[in-house]
Amino acid sequence: MSLLETPSGKLLDAISALLAAKGIAAPDEIAERIRITDQASPARGAQMVARAWTEPEFRAQMLANGTLAAESMGIPMRGLPPLGVLEDTAEVHHVVVCTLCSCYPRAVLGYPPFWFKSAAYRSRAVRDPRGLIAEWGTVLPDSVKLRVVDSTADYRWMVLPLRPEGTEGWSVEQLAALVDEGDMIGVTIPTRG
Ligand code: FE
Repeated sequence: MSLLETPSGKLLDAISALLAAKGIAAPDEIAERIRITDQASPARGAQMVARAWTEPEFRAQMLANGTLAAESMGIPMRGLPPLGVLEDTAEVHHVVVCTLCSCYPRAVLGYPPFWFKSAAYRSRAVRDPRGLIAEWGTVLPDSVKLRVVDSTADYRWMVLPLRPEGTEGWSVEQLAALVDEGDMIGVTIPTRG
């Protein structure tokens, strides 16, 4: 049986044992990281977005240093690649892709959706991003520039989307409920109600 045919559980056990034997990571540290990742969900990112929409100071911090902004909301970021936040404006819309594999800001968005890892998404996000997001219902006017940003092992990205019109006076909770994972990847835009 080749390594690639080994059941993933056995492979994980073997790698864990090696990391422990070499003093790189103890089994309880690995278990803790798995627990933290399992707890994460797009709701965390949505909370950050809603807060940025309502608190200019937090917005500025989030755009300057996403990792610090996430940590200030109690999200564990230690040992993870830096989090960058891309601000959509009336002029620029952002789409995030990992062209190589599936790099994703899991601490703030949870596990990536299945399509994020697909070769179809990874290639088309680069080749025809406007056509791609149009299929999700986001038809960008030609006047809006589209920027595609690559998440990598060294830097993870999320999008701070535009706040929907007509949401003046909404609470952070109401606003957070508008934000889906696709909005923070840039393949959709948040809509009201
Ligand atoms: Fe990747």
